[in-house]
Amino acid sequence: MALIVQKYGGSSVGDAGKIKNVARRVAQTKDKGNQVVVVVSAMGDTTDELIKLAYQINERPDERELDMLLSTGEIISCTLLAMALEAMGYEAISLSGAQAGIKTDAVYSRARIQSIDPERITRELEKGNIVIVAGFQGITDDMDVTTLGRGGSDTTAVALAVSLGAEVCQIYTDVEGVFTADPRIVPEAQKLPEIGYEEMLELATYGAKVMHPRAVELGELFNVPILVASSFNDSPGTLIHGGVAMEVRNKVRGIAHDLDVAKITVVGVPDRPGIAASIFEPLAKANISIDTIVQNASVNKITDLTFTVAKSQLKKAMEVVKPIAESIGARECVSDSTLGKVSIIGTGMQNTPGYAARMFGALREKGINIELITTSEIRITCIIEEDRVKDAVRVLHRAFELEG
Ligand code: ADP
Ligand code: ASP
Ligand code: MG
Repeated sequence: MALIVQKYGGSSVGDAGKIKNVARRVAQTKDKGNQVVVVVSAMGDTTDELIKLAYQINERPDERELDMLLSTGEIISCTLLAMALEAMGYEAISLSGAQAGIKTDAVYSRARIQSIDPERITRELEKGNIVIVAGFQGITDDMDVTTLGRGGSDTTAVALAVSLGAEVCQIYTDVEGVFTADPRIVPEAQKLPEIGYEEMLELATYGAKVMHPRAVELGELFNVPILVASSFNDSPGTLIHGGVAMEVRNKVRGIAHDLDVAKITVVGVPDRPGIAASIFEPLAKANISIDTIVQNASVNKITDLTFTVAKSQLKKAMEVVKPIAESIGARECVSDSTLGKVSIIGTGMQNTPGYAARMFGALREKGINIELITTSEIRITCIIEEDRVKDAVRVLHRAFELEG
């Protein structure tokens, strides 16, 4: 008997009919003689709606209360799925993250899983139950409910697969797998039959929303294969795993994009030791994640310092940085919240010249201005105007001949 962990995303459980569809798929897996643990996301846009509601009530909702509120979205879908299975004659039980033994740290809205005590799940499986776990949530040592960050149900699923020793973690969503680019933007994008953890992690981190980056990280760390496939048909999907052949693959595997980029520039900063620390330490203390950082070469001991944050963190970041900029004698502090980023990713780019030139050439062809550039061994990212991101994804997909 195999133990299988499946996860169904928000659009797969968007209404009663879709929940019944998921119930049928879960039942089929159970009928094949497997033990089944299912993780679900909140129905459709529930999480967005709950956030909107909270902000209508309070411009600065308390973060503990917000997490408690958001966790209810997944509670709704997991109870309904259990009811759908019961209506079909199957024994099923829904569990909240806390009931499923998922312990996290206390960083609200992006808590990290610290441990899972699988005792309750195991007990329910032994009784013959299908176990449905509310995704995206856990509980602190003080018994406060936390959420894992947007898209975090993927991470719940992989973490459960690790802790229960499942053979595979199946992520069912509204596309047929991982594509060479977001298929909603590039209709010619190709489904990848398989992809390595490392490339998938870069794709996810740089915006390919089909997988939560931390889920990929966990899969890699514990070597759990992750299958990404459609919840609406039986097409084979994409297997994310560690054994992808090295030399036979395309050198650029995929294009990722992200529309959630804001930039802050501290202009006219005196160039002396300790300045960067004096800006970034308070930002870290305020729990603001910084992405790209660029410091210009200084002229006459004066330089500019630019960095990017998520748009939702811009206001808070400016509140932190402005007084510091003043106190260190910087000229001014400006921001731009109309940016996005586009990345080419592939392990085959390592030690191979010419990729950056080809990328910049393709963007030039479309008249797209590059504001900032960052690279890793297997990735080149350009920060550009938000309005041009979709054009950029399409032109790069063509330039790197990803349409197959
Ligand atoms: P779920 O609700 O099932 O978690 P998400 O909306 O989080 O689904 O992720 C699926 C979406 O990810 C797709 O609808 C697609 O638009 C987007 N996406 C972005 N990049 C890619 C990619 N490279 N391959 C597949 N889907 C992608
Ligand atoms: N419901 C949460 C979100 O919308 C978690 C998830 O879908 O994975 O981000
Ligand atoms: Mg998702």
